[in-house]
Amino acid sequence: GDIATATDLLVIGAGPGGYVAAIRGAQKGLDTTLVEKGAFGGACLNRGCIPSKAFIHGADVAHDAANAEDIGIHADPAVDMSRMQEWKSGVVDQLTGGVEKLCKANGVSLLEGTASFEDEHTARIAHGGEGQGMETVEFEHAVVATGSRPIQIPGFDFADDPVLSSEDLLAMDSLPDRLVVVGAGYIGMELSTMLAKLGTDVTVVEMLDDVLPGYEDDVQRTIRSRAEDLGIEFNFGEGATGWEDTGDGVVVSTETEDGETAEYLGDAVLVAVGRQPVTDTLELESIGLEPNENGFLATDDRARTDVENVFAVGDVAGEPMLAHKASAEGIVAAEVAAGEPAALDQQAIPAAVFTDPEIATVGMTREEAENDGFDPVVGEMPLRASGRALSMGESEGFVRIVADEESGIVLGGQLVGPNASELVAEVALAVEMSATLEDVAGTVHTHPTLAEAVMEAAENAQGQAIHTL
Ligand code: FAD
Repeated sequence: GDIATATDLLVIGAGPGGYVAAIRGAQKGLDTTLVEKGAFGGACLNRGCIPSKAFIHGADVAHDAANAEDIGIHADPAVDMSRMQEWKSGVVDQLTGGVEKLCKANGVSLLEGTASFEDEHTARIAHGGEGQGMETVEFEHAVVATGSRPIQIPGFDFADDPVLSSEDLLAMDSLPDRLVVVGAGYIGMELSTMLAKLGTDVTVVEMLDDVLPGYEDDVQRTIRSRAEDLGIEFNFGEGATGWEDTGDGVVVSTETEDGETAEYLGDAVLVAVGRQPVTDTLELESIGLEPNENGFLATDDRARTDVENVFAVGDVAGEPMLAHKASAEGIVAAEVAAGEPAALDQQAIPAAVFTDPEIATVGMTREEAENDGFDPVVGEMPLRASGRALSMGESEGFVRIVADEESGIVLGGQLVGPNASELVAEVALAVEMSATLEDVAGTVHTHPTLAEAVMEAAENAQGQAIHTL
């Protein structure tokens, strides 16, 4: 029969938005219940960030070893994909197990099942399959953290074997020899780069006119030309319309805006055209909540939806669809539910793309600063002038810092190069604290490190860098 429980904070979904909200809620003294229908850790730990970064690391180890003649190393590594898959699963299991332990240690009650709303203070949890029981939970506050799923396009059904989502690809025990990739956004580019390094012949089809739509020209150019060096073939301005199994492989057809058609051959096709929010199992109509035209739940800077006691965090609450944004919103939601005046500053949320080289950005570009009414000053440090980058054999890229000329306050940064995903943290701290160029330039950095390039970019913006003009 039905079991009824009562809780202060009900969190729906245990990805990086939900589990973090639950832990913080419990830390703030709220009786907290976390419900998950699938695996703890959500997309990020099970099918996204962590598996992709594990494989990217594996691909880098193999590729770097095979391409080290310049520094006197001659190696011809053999890649055992099923072993790499096992290793990745070990990493994932360790992390998801850790999430469950942390939740329990913080006193969060865990429920397995699919949650849906009955009214503004009641949810129903359906356990497993039919006849496995139902549970009713009464709550003061709820946090919707149900995440997102890959977008399917007409003509490409993920249920068909040769049509792969990023999630399917990251679960494969052997890699296709030839792959057609639809979409050159960040997921398409990360996976294409990784696959090319592991020996797959990659052909990319993208509707827009360059890789990584939305990034600045010089960022796009660096990533595209390195990807081409890895053998990736790009076809821009073409939309994928369908596929056919010819026996010799999968033929993917495309069409341009002018109606010109083309065909590309692979052993499978990866569709990576974005992700869409998941709200369909929630029965939002029972609380009078409606997603916006893109399917997201609109929230204010305190993560509140239009229903006063219901919060939404992470991918379901809109762009940027990133794990650290989900967690930051989860913390805000839990603290606001606990009666604290927390709010999120969207300006200081960094983003990283784990291509070769990596890209990372935070805050404003020069153009965005101008459009926002600032008079920006921009400083740059090319990595070919960095002793550390040169001694790593990875000197392609730059660090760029954008600041307000009059006050010197740092408004943003764009970084391309090895470990850019780590280096951006310093610029994010500067943006978050409204630090000035002088603060960054005056901070003594360890030598020889890539981080010195952040300091030099700040000095360059002040017109007085030592290692660049
Ligand atoms: P999710 O992680 O999607 O978790 C939602 C959870 O809710 C799921 O576990 C789901 O089962 C559960 N759920 C849904 N509905 C219900 C219901 N009704 N009842 C109970 N449970 C429910 N982001 C980064 O920041 N860095 C990266 O490097 C990165 N790489 C990525 C690589 C790939 C290939 C992909 C696909 C994504 C990547 N992302 C990355 C994005 C990142 O995974 C997401 O932004 C993040 O997982 C969003 O967290 P979330 O908590 O909002 O949702």
